Amino acid sequence: MGTMSGVPDHAEPHFDVPRQVTPFSEIGTPVERWPWWAPAGWVLVAATSVVFYAIVLALSPLLVAAIVGRRLWRRSLRYRRSPADLRIAIIGAGWSGLQCLQRFGEIGVEKVDVFERFGDIGGTWSPHLRYHGLQIHGSMTVTSFDGFPYSEDPDVQRGKVMAEEVERYIHRFADARDLKSRCQLNSTVQSVDYSSANHTATLTITDSGTGEARSAGPYDLVIWASMAAVGSIPELPGAAEFRGWQLHTVAYSDAEFNEIVRDNKKVVVVGAGKAACDVALGLRRGGYDNFTWVMRRPYLFYKYEALLHNASPMNKLRGLTYLATVLFTGVSRRFGAILHWSSGYLHAVGHPHTDFTRFHGGLLCPTQRRELSNVPYTIGNPVRFQDDQLVFEDGTSLPADVVIWATGNSTGIDTLRLTKDGTAVTLDPNAKLYNHFIVPDFPVLASSTALWTTFGPMRATNAADLAVYHLAVRKERSKQQMHRAAQRQLSRNSIVHSFIWAHDACWLQLWVHFHIDLVLQGITPVEAFFKHAFEVFVLGKETPLRFNLLPPRRPAARTRSGLESTAAAAAGPGGSE
Ligand SMILES: Cc1cc2nc3c(=O)[nH]c(=O)nc-3n(C[C@H](O)[C@H](O)[C@H](O)COP(=O)(O)OP(=O)(O)OC[C@H]3O[C@@H](n4cnc5c(N)ncnc54)[C@H](O)[C@@H]3O)c2cc1C
Repeated sequence: MGTMSGVPDHAEPHFDVPRQVTPFSEIGTPVERWPWWAPAGWVLVAATSVVFYAIVLALSPLLVAAIVGRRLWRRSLRYRRSPADLRIAIIGAGWSGLQCLQRFGEIGVEKVDVFERFGDIGGTWSPHLRYHGLQIHGSMTVTSFDGFPYSEDPDVQRGKVMAEEVERYIHRFADARDLKSRCQLNSTVQSVDYSSANHTATLTITDSGTGEARSAGPYDLVIWASMAAVGSIPELPGAAEFRGWQLHTVAYSDAEFNEIVRDNKKVVVVGAGKAACDVALGLRRGGYDNFTWVMRRPYLFYKYEALLHNASPMNKLRGLTYLATVLFTGVSRRFGAILHWSSGYLHAVGHPHTDFTRFHGGLLCPTQRRELSNVPYTIGNPVRFQDDQLVFEDGTSLPADVVIWATGNSTGIDTLRLTKDGTAVTLDPNAKLYNHFIVPDFPVLASSTALWTTFGPMRATNAADLAVYHLAVRKERSKQQMHRAAQRQLSRNSIVHSFIWAHDACWLQLWVHFHIDLVLQGITPVEAFFKHAFEVFVLGKETPLRFNLLPPRRPAARTRSGLESTAAAAAGPGGSE
């Protein structure tokens, strides 16, 4: 197989693909036949694409003006404060926290503390949170760290890997960049105290082992970098008397799987998303049939090989039409669903539909689709427990020794205690974030999870850039200014409910609106958005979507005498793009 790349000093001469990796060439041949109406769908997609590219062409003078204007504006930017003087805290050492830490180093921020409640880095992919059978849905192309591709072998890079392998990759990145030693492990952040007079935050942290509390700070900004820390379980009546056990997928480790198989426990798996698919597949692949899969409504998934294709000329052409499909989803989610079906991108686990509020965004490869089509499921809405039964809305029930809830995750930010000048503050779950990043009412808190610009860890580079731009470049903003700007944003996105976990909404539509918001606010350069979308959907590769918000030259840190050095520091990666 190919050679590993991106880590010159740690590179091993050869990269043998571990067992947990499924290269693109092995993910299987699609089994589905095109439906009878497929030619009509192709005509629709082709016509829509022509309309889309005609609109782009008509708007091109405006787009060029916007690109040139923004470039000139960027040249006028100056630092009002040295990034070296900023003090930042990052909560979470998953892939986002690590990528953000790395990027801060590149753009001149030296005082960064990372807090992680577990004894190791890795987040979702670590043994603390991953469930038995967790497999990444995207390819490694869109899971790579900036400048540190998983592999140089395109076949492997486009393939899927198991969680254990993602974890190893995260460690490889952290080792190569010496990031782990900069993370404070076993450190659970309990509270954030904001002093409005000083515009700073102080954290209270407890040692996850001993419970001992300490404080850290002051910080100019605290970045929440946790996407899926907490499993969501519905609270059903009768749970206390239930004779079996119930657990969320975050607690369904290899040990629980082994116990289920050893004792032949009757299992009910509840959910229709990625986790439910993985759990059902994991049980099936383990040769275990004593389970029932229940979902309320079926989800739609991407066909892996359609979205993250092998960049053949035909697939590139198809990728070009996909750009049109994505942007039309921003206009109408029903039309977006029809276009997705028409271009052959969608797969329904359960019966097909066009309700894009039930579009998961996970990706199923042909092998997974084939295997899942042999796993029976039932539709039902669990409402209570009774003795050893899970009872459904329609009055039917299922006997269960174990109920596995594959019912989604939340970021966990609502577990933080917040105070402002000593008074308790509650985060409004519906309040919009300024630039989809900063909490206007509590401006020392920002969320890299809400700033979901793109796939994979690379997106967290943007959190670092926007933090420095906000704190050290643009004029200070009042709470009212931030509120007003946030209110004008099209996309729903709060720090509690990141749009990417949206319920009763279409995440893809919100994602398009989110980018429109950031372009109109001058954060995302319009050409950067198109370049990124072109790379991912058409060329089958990913580099970070660059905000290019930082002035080309960086001032040096304060000298010991407290005077600002006049010498300009060499432009870092953020300043030279
Ligand atoms: C079941 C499941 C499957 C997924 N599959 C995919 C996939 O296939 N492809 C994909 O791109 N994405 C997938 N995701 C989304 C995935 O979570 C993210 O893409 C990625 O792991 C997010 O990284 P992160 O660093 O933002 O957050 P996380 O991985 O959630 O890491 C957050 C870290 O913050 C820590 N933390 C939380 N609260 C505190 C606190 N108070 N104090 C200190 N530390 C704290 C947590 O312990 C954790 O280590 C999946 C998520 C789930 C739940």
